Amino acid sequence: MTTVGILAIQGDVDAHARALERVGATPRPILQEADLDGLNALILPGGESTTIAKGLDRLDLWDSLRFFVHSGLPMLGTCAGAILLAREVENHPVATLDAIDGVVVRNAYGTQVDSFSAEADPGAARGLEGLPCVFIRAPRWKTLGDGIEILARVGGEPVLIRQGNVLAATFHPELTEDLRVHDLLVRSAG
Ligand code: GLN
Repeated sequence: MTTVGILAIQGDVDAHARALERVGATPRPILQEADLDGLNALILPGGESTTIAKGLDRLDLWDSLRFFVHSGLPMLGTCAGAILLAREVENHPVATLDAIDGVVVRNAYGTQVDSFSAEADPGAARGLEGLPCVFIRAPRWKTLGDGIEILARVGGEPVLIRQGNVLAATFHPELTEDLRVHDLLVRSAG
């Protein structure tokens, strides 16, 4: 059985848990270092990156999560979770895990289109064609290092990327019926 942790400080933890169950994995909420023991993969959910970062301070979890990044086990950050994976954050910076060699801009789609959904552009990675993407006050990658794989774009912007064991989605894959992103994470953990 594949056990996948979900950082449970704030955000859409329950929706990720349901998505994981539906792809055959066991979700486990993470609120302390001991919760990370024996995990096969980890999700940093969407929500509010400032709040989640403050929670990581309060729970003293930064080093444990950095250790997890370096363990090579699969990770997925969605929206605020993707922000927490970036090397650098613009537009009200927050502390991060520096797991993705990129600069991300918070709330980059502006107030007019705070939330929208769209299908992945043609040319997404095999198996991810037509992926539905829900964006909620979403971040946007401003720069990405050369080694980063772009698995899906929307409107030409990279929205699902991978650096080694770390996946980052600027959208919310847990909010649609299409569970291919969770499936990708769980399969890479198996
Ligand atoms: N705007 C949020 C942030 O900057 C992210 C939004 C989300 O996770 N849906 O943290």
